[in-house]
Amino acid sequence: MAALELKGRPASDGIYCGPAVYLDKALPTRTSTGTPQGEKAALDAAIAEAIAGVSLLMERSEGEAADILAFQVAMLEDDALQLPACERIDRGAAADAAWTAALDDEIAGYQESDDEYFRARAADLTDIRDRVLRHLSGAGNTQAVAGAVLLAEDIAPTLFLETDWSQGGAIALSGGSASSHVAMLARARGVPMTVGLGPISAFATGDVIVDGGQGVLTIDPDDAQRAAYVRRQSVLSEQRVIESRYLFEPAQLKDGSPVQILINVAGVEELDHIDPRCCDGIGLMRSEFLFRDGSPLPDEDQQYSAYRRFIEWAEGRPVTIRTLDIGGDKPVRGLTPEGESNPFLGLRGVRLTLARPDVFASQLRALARAAVHGPLKVMLPMVTVPDEVENTRQLLANCIADLEREHIACATPPLGIMIEVPAAAIAPELFSTAAFFSIGSNDLTQYVTASSRDGAAVAALNDSGHPAIARLIGGVTAFGRANGIPVSLCGDMASETTHLSVLIAAGLRSLSVAPSRVARIKAALAEL
Ligand code: PEP
Ligand code: MG
Repeated sequence: MAALELKGRPASDGIYCGPAVYLDKALPTRTSTGTPQGEKAALDAAIAEAIAGVSLLMERSEGEAADILAFQVAMLEDDALQLPACERIDRGAAADAAWTAALDDEIAGYQESDDEYFRARAADLTDIRDRVLRHLSGAGNTQAVAGAVLLAEDIAPTLFLETDWSQGGAIALSGGSASSHVAMLARARGVPMTVGLGPISAFATGDVIVDGGQGVLTIDPDDAQRAAYVRRQSVLSEQRVIESRYLFEPAQLKDGSPVQILINVAGVEELDHIDPRCCDGIGLMRSEFLFRDGSPLPDEDQQYSAYRRFIEWAEGRPVTIRTLDIGGDKPVRGLTPEGESNPFLGLRGVRLTLARPDVFASQLRALARAAVHGPLKVMLPMVTVPDEVENTRQLLANCIADLEREHIACATPPLGIMIEVPAAAIAPELFSTAAFFSIGSNDLTQYVTASSRDGAAVAALNDSGHPAIARLIGGVTAFGRANGIPVSLCGDMASETTHLSVLIAAGLRSLSVAPSRVARIKAALAEL
């Protein structure tokens, strides 16, 4: 067969060539027990086996992976998932048919959601459905395939975690999403991944090449394509070696002028893999990731312990913790309003926390307590008007007064803001009482270009390279410089070498980047 190149969307960097493995969904045929009681017992047993399997996997995992598995165990243990299947069994359906129909309804609900976050969670439910079906049919757990390129419509997080990636491998999906759990896992493990390729199952008999950085899948590559792959791989690994020399060096431009490089983090567990000496501190800690949808909200003490760990990890370097940016693509049941017609333009970030002073106060108390342990800065997301800053400042002052009355050690951290709403980027002078500005180019781009940051159809329009973005960044940076307000940028733009010259030309000398990009960005800055 002649080589065929399919273009999808990048989900995780890197290039890999290996044998294609289609994930086989066919299961052995199952014979019904013939009675509703027998079928319910069989379903109960299969769910129990699935819970045991996922729990075992969870014990061997940590961080993000463990959270995903905990979510699956919680779903499996939730009677609400089983109830519709049992009702179908009572009406005469076999356990496997009843479970499939019940879960398919649930999955369809998630898939139809306008919200990328919920669509991405459909993969977890599909995983749960198939796992229980495998136990019902006696097929047991899936066999993970080492060193292969996994081709599928979408793949389950558990399959990813069961796969031995130490021998290489990649993922190419006809559907999928770059913001799914699997994509996050792939990026963390450095597994190349491409999504949104369209139908692929009709092709491929041998090797395929996945270029995760370009979002391309090459099926049955010819000799020239294989040779190009080998060249590209060696260029990439040489590049990594060169970049790694910069990791622990202070970042500077070609003329020797310094640039501050901070990192963006979400979870405490990420810190285990990062040496603080590679950066000038944490420029963005996305605290909302401590608040998992479907899990109990962390209380003040839990938050305090987490924030303190970030500060202690940084060994005296500044740590910027952003207050909850829940809403938009990060809903949390019980906190975010149901049924908003456009959640990205709704009650999100500081708008939501100010509407929930109980939740906000517990975070601000935890932050004020953590501030005792090192140079903590607090940052507000989605700021649109100065009142949001002043109302937060008042709430923070009240929290500190309460803590002092309670004889609990605390300090007042500087309060800065994200510049990510166009109103703030156009009129930064409204926020001259802020201790610092950090430009959120991800949301700024989505709101300025009126194209959602997670919509495939408008992905080309959602371009941080639009001159309007550079102009706004230049304006904010100039205002900050003229008025003694430090300005940094923590959106994904700072992690992409292609945007660096624009950011430096705009006057920025402080960037907060993905931890995996620190060396690359330092190396690229040295050439500017
Ligand atoms: C941004 O919008 O650029 C940003 C850094 O925040 P988040 O990606 O968390 O919305
Ligand atoms: Mg943002």
